[in-house]
Amino acid sequence: MTKNSIPGIHHVTAISGPAQANVDFYTGTLKQRLVKKTVNFDAPDTYHLYYGDRKGSPGTILTFFPFADAGPGRAGPGMASAYAYAVPKGKFTEWMERLGDAAVDFAGIDERFGQQYITLRDADGAPVELIETDRTTEDLLDGFHSVTLWERDIAPTARLLTDAFGYEERGHETLRGVERLRLVAPGDERGNVIDLIRSEKPSIGRSGAGTIHHVAFRARTNEEQRDWQDRLLSFGHRTTPVIDRQYFNAIYFREPGGVLFEIATDPPGFAVDEPVRTLGQALKLPPQYEPIRDRIERVLPPLKVAS
Ligand code: ZN
Repeated sequence: MTKNSIPGIHHVTAISGPAQANVDFYTGTLKQRLVKKTVNFDAPDTYHLYYGDRKGSPGTILTFFPFADAGPGRAGPGMASAYAYAVPKGKFTEWMERLGDAAVDFAGIDERFGQQYITLRDADGAPVELIETDRTTEDLLDGFHSVTLWERDIAPTARLLTDAFGYEERGHETLRGVERLRLVAPGDERGNVIDLIRSEKPSIGRSGAGTIHHVAFRARTNEEQRDWQDRLLSFGHRTTPVIDRQYFNAIYFREPGGVLFEIATDPPGFAVDEPVRTLGQALKLPPQYEPIRDRIERVLPPLKVAS
């Protein structure tokens, strides 16, 4: 049985420039774990890198397609424009000291819906927000807090999220010409917040390094995913068939504002082809590419991961 709402974000996938600078920022500066080192299943001569918490839990996963020669992109209407990590209770000051010690620039402190946050730029200039939350964990970050979607018109996307996905409206504010609507999935799962923004200023986005490719929501089981597929169809959204992504099953569709949405299953998870202890250390390939592993390993640049 499908619960009446999506629990939250499963993963976010973005585009980056050279892989090593991406690894350095997310494993070094942000202290995330590289939980899977694999290839772009549609272009196996490029990496697909997954960062997350120690176990690679849904709601903590940020993935990148690094292209050494990717041109810079910029977010605009019809694109996801930022992701935010949840800073556990009491660790916000620690983060600012840590970034200061490492001479990492950040903007802020700002406040949004009563929560303090700062904004960093990753190696490709993508905004990464760290938001102070009430969550408690030993980790320095507790996965995603939210994703921001930049829309020309907020209403149709808000309707999809509330009526089909079961999100609830939690607040509305306009700051410096940017209107922001906050939607929250019931429950307290990681990444259960979606912010929709609309800007007064005309702007056109361009996909490229430093931009988000798609946003994946969670289905706890394959059966739940099939139910979401039916439910979306009843709301007029036809998804792709179920696609096997090795670590989850995926369906995709474009939301009314143009952002590519995915619904990804929790199972089988990232420990399906290597133990949790050594996640991300070896290059993992799906079965169809094992026969050409030598060729793939020759063209991929070696990566050094911060320990
Ligand atoms: Zn995805």
